[in-house]
Amino acid sequence: MKALKEKILQEGRLIDNHILKVDCFLNHQLDPQMIQAIGNEFASRFADEGITRILTIESSGIAVAIMAGLALGVPVVFARKKKPVTLEEQVYHSEVYSFTKKEQVDIFVSNDFMEHTDRVLIIDDFLARGQAALGLMDIVRQSGASLAGIGIVIEKGFQDGGRILREKGIRLESLAIIESMSCEGIIFSENA
Ligand code: 5GP
Repeated sequence: MKALKEKILQEGRLIDNHILKVDCFLNHQLDPQMIQAIGNEFASRFADEGITRILTIESSGIAVAIMAGLALGVPVVFARKKKPVTLEEQVYHSEVYSFTKKEQVDIFVSNDFMEHTDRVLIIDDFLARGQAALGLMDIVRQSGASLAGIGIVIEKGFQDGGRILREKGIRLESLAIIESMSCEGIIFSENA
C-alpha cells in the first residue's frame, strides 16, 4: 500500500534498529484518514471471503480493525489483555509472549462474541515473530469458527512470523513488508 509506505518513511522512527515507532499515526496518535484507508484496503482484499467477524487485540489493532469492520459491515471483537470482572466465566483464553515488552500476557475473548458459525478475519498492527497472531488463531480454533485470513498493517519481514503463518497455509495480507531497517533507512519488500 503505497500511501502507507510513504507515511512510514516520512514519520516512522527506529528504536535500536529493530523496533519501528509509528506513534504519530498508528500506535498513539491516530491519523483518521490513514487508518480509514488501511481499513478499506483490508476490506477490499478480503471482500470475497464471507467474513462475519473481525478479531484483533487491544489496543493498537482496534482502530484499523474497526475501520475494516465498518467497510465490511461486520462486528469487531478485541481480545482483552486482562480479564475484567464484567467478563463472564465463559471465555476463550490464550497466551501471547511479547518480545517488545518481554512478558507473557494472557488474552481473553468472551464466548458470546465468537461462534462456531463465524468466518473470522484477524487484524493487527504489526507482525514480528507471530506470537500475537498465533494467540488470536488459538482463540478462533477454540470457538470452532473458521479463519479467513490475517491482515497486518506492517510486517517485519526480517523476523519469522510471516514465514511461520504462510507455511501453515494461512492467507496473510500485509500492507507493508519491511525487508530491512537500519540507520541507513527502511527498505520494503516488493511482495506487498
Ligand atoms: P509478534 O507477536 O508478531 O512477535 O509481535 C507483534 C506485536 O508486537 C504487535 O501486536 C505489536 O504490538 C508489537 N510489535 C512488534 N514489533 C513492533 C515494532 O517494531 N513496532 C511496534 N510499534 N510494535 C511492535
